[in-house]
Amino acid sequence: HGANSPAARDIAHVLHPYTDHKAHREKGPLVITGGRGVYVSDENGKEYLETVAGLWCAGLGFQNERLVQAAAEQMRKLPFYHAFTGRSHMPLIELSEMLIERAPVPMSKAFFANSGSEANDTALKMIWYMNNALGRPQKKKVISRIGGYHGVTVAAASLTGLPANHKLFDLPIAGILHTSRPHHYHNAQPGESEEEFATRLAAELEEMIVREGPDTVAGFFAEPVMGAGGVIVPPATYFEKIQAVLRKYDVLLVADEVICGFGRTGSYWGSQTMGMQPDILTCAKALSSSYLPISGVLVNERVYEALSEGSSQIGTWGHGYTYSGHPVAAAVAVETLKIYDEMDIVSHAAASGAVMQKRLREAVADHPLVGEVRGIGLIGAVELVENKAEHRNFDPAKKVAAKLVALGEEHGLILRALPNDSIAFSPPQIITPDEVEIMVTRFSKALDALSVQLRR
Ligand code: PLP
Repeated sequence: HGANSPAARDIAHVLHPYTDHKAHREKGPLVITGGRGVYVSDENGKEYLETVAGLWCAGLGFQNERLVQAAAEQMRKLPFYHAFTGRSHMPLIELSEMLIERAPVPMSKAFFANSGSEANDTALKMIWYMNNALGRPQKKKVISRIGGYHGVTVAAASLTGLPANHKLFDLPIAGILHTSRPHHYHNAQPGESEEEFATRLAAELEEMIVREGPDTVAGFFAEPVMGAGGVIVPPATYFEKIQAVLRKYDVLLVADEVICGFGRTGSYWGSQTMGMQPDILTCAKALSSSYLPISGVLVNERVYEALSEGSSQIGTWGHGYTYSGHPVAAAVAVETLKIYDEMDIVSHAAASGAVMQKRLREAVADHPLVGEVRGIGLIGAVELVENKAEHRNFDPAKKVAAKLVALGEEHGLILRALPNDSIAFSPPQIITPDEVEIMVTRFSKALDALSVQLRR
């Protein structure tokens, strides 16, 4: 790289999230300079199909003029205002109405933050405050799942169930527990049906709640389909059984829709696809098609009642961000939701998603390196294995998924590797069946190139 190239300047001064810094200095960055639909392009003009919509987020793809207009208009009208202590503004009011109208179950109020992590922190602090307001301050433990991803702030990282987010940070914080993930392929016992597996996981959850003391357990956080933990679609009856346990012990359900919301799973919300009836729902990412940072927290009437009673009886709920409901981000989110309606995002994503699931299986399920192809709608994963019969992954030191990601770039694909050498698929919701076909064909070629590379 030339001394003044973007790559050299990056290496000199950028500290990247989630990055092996030594490897980064050697290889250098892929500098993305533009976008068009489901494609992004680098500084040399090479185009890549973005198989994960950036970070599972750019629902409308990488160039939508209406969102640009919405942002510009709002910036001219009112670039900033806040929502503290009774202040309000029109984008905040309109976005709250639209989300409540579209919620998967009757919801009462909407709160806003800037990221998925903050939305989940907010949900946790609502639950803690709520139980203080209800005069049961000991009811504050929360349970999430191994493999779940809920973000990286101290509380959200604690909710996340991945070792990399815990072990070097002394996390999780006290009172956050993790139960098993519903991944039949790796975690079912020999001969166990999906139904039996779901029953066992619900029993495990119940044992945990009873062991901890039901009067101390307040909430359960779950993604409808686990995303960053590997794209884990639970067995059909999993959430029905889990929710029966939660209701029995008065434990609130928080659906983390940060990835699954806005058509991703073939319904407007992952909760609808998976039969979840959350008390609190968090969303982000595709809410604004990620053109500006914004996340939402929807609460039902029961939660709102407790927050409302509490504010007059035990003191204000001391929580909120300077940028909660930022007018420009909210205006972009409003426009995004309007576009989703106009294009019937749910039918569109369901149709392209069905093609993606079918074509991925046809193209690579029988490949010797592929253990499992899984997913639903426009979220999927292809897991690489060393031993197909035993469901055994490669030694992580072989960095097999990283090799495939590099080959993906050569074949015009941005790929994303997850734990267990799983490659994620979560393209922009606007992707067409023809573009799905291009994505699968390129992936299939990259996978064959990986076979050749591993044989050498
Ligand atoms: N929840 C889920 C399901 C996510 O996938 C993510 C991010 O990928 C988050 C929460 C955290 O969101 P953020 O990175 O915006 O803090």
